[in-house]
Amino acid sequence: MPQSENLRIAIQKSGRLSEDSISLFKECGIKLEAGKGRLKSESPNFQAEFLFLRDDDIPGYVEDGVADLGIVGENVLIESAKSVEVIKKLGFSKCRLSLAVPREVDYVDHTYFDKKNIATSYPKLLGKYLADNNLNAQIHEISGSVEIAPSIGLADAVCDIVSSGSTLLSNGLKEVEVIFKSEAVFIGNTSLSDSKKAILEKLLFRINAVQRAQNNKYILLNAPNDKLKEIISFLPGMKSPTVMPLATEGWSSVHSVLEESEFWENIEALRSAGAEGILVIPIEKMIY
Ligand code: ATP
Ligand code: ZN
Repeated sequence: MPQSENLRIAIQKSGRLSEDSISLFKECGIKLEAGKGRLKSESPNFQAEFLFLRDDDIPGYVEDGVADLGIVGENVLIESAKSVEVIKKLGFSKCRLSLAVPREVDYVDHTYFDKKNIATSYPKLLGKYLADNNLNAQIHEISGSVEIAPSIGLADAVCDIVSSGSTLLSNGLKEVEVIFKSEAVFIGNTSLSDSKKAILEKLLFRINAVQRAQNNKYILLNAPNDKLKEIISFLPGMKSPTVMPLATEGWSSVHSVLEESEFWENIEALRSAGAEGILVIPIEKMIY
């Protein structure tokens, strides 16, 4: 049987997506060498090769089939208007696209933006927001350092990516509207060959196991036997919790898996029901 081709996966060469993209594949047990000005790297233990590119170029390369798959921010993907398949949200590089105005503006609501001049690198996303809100504003497209536009008289407001807001603050701006929330997404070419689809299936199986593990915690606790029933009711578990007798008479050790989101809420309930010595341990992989 002929050796099937490698999956070609485009990731950001250097920037805010790079580290988490590389870690994702490493956590999936896929070795790759990155850095040192490398443009391409073939994995020695998985049928994949990685292309290191500027994030803005990734949707286009995936649409054209130069790359089969890619990781990019949803903001860049939508702005690119390329036709690719969104395979999976990845939960990292979370940020928001927001409108910001000079600090001294007495901002009441979004009608402020009517007839204003707004600087942005995201004309499509901003245009959609303005149209959805019946606002008639001028979009001034610039490719970088958007946040200085108001102070040099280029615009009345900006629409830019924010994570902590400190860049806005240091440029005398305040965030007033969030217009889009973004995270990294895994995208794919819409006509992958069957052999590439088969490798993608293997990859997704691993990514799902890693993501599930990241969203869950392994929990161990000691419970007095007369409170076991109540304590177990707070531990949904994958099937049902494991209960083992402790050497101390009348006590058991209970093991289960909890979703991160249910975590704090249940910890409180468990403690008040009499659970002691609660240990919470990260899970590396979770296979169903
Ligand atoms: P490139 O040189 O590859 O074009 P860039 O400067 O355009 O890089 P980065 O600043 O590395 O891009 O951001 C890449 C993506 O990471 C953004 O498109 C966005 O989705 C996300 N992002 C941007 N800013 C932040 C932030 N402060 N925190 C988290 N994620 C962010
Ligand atoms: Zn970019």
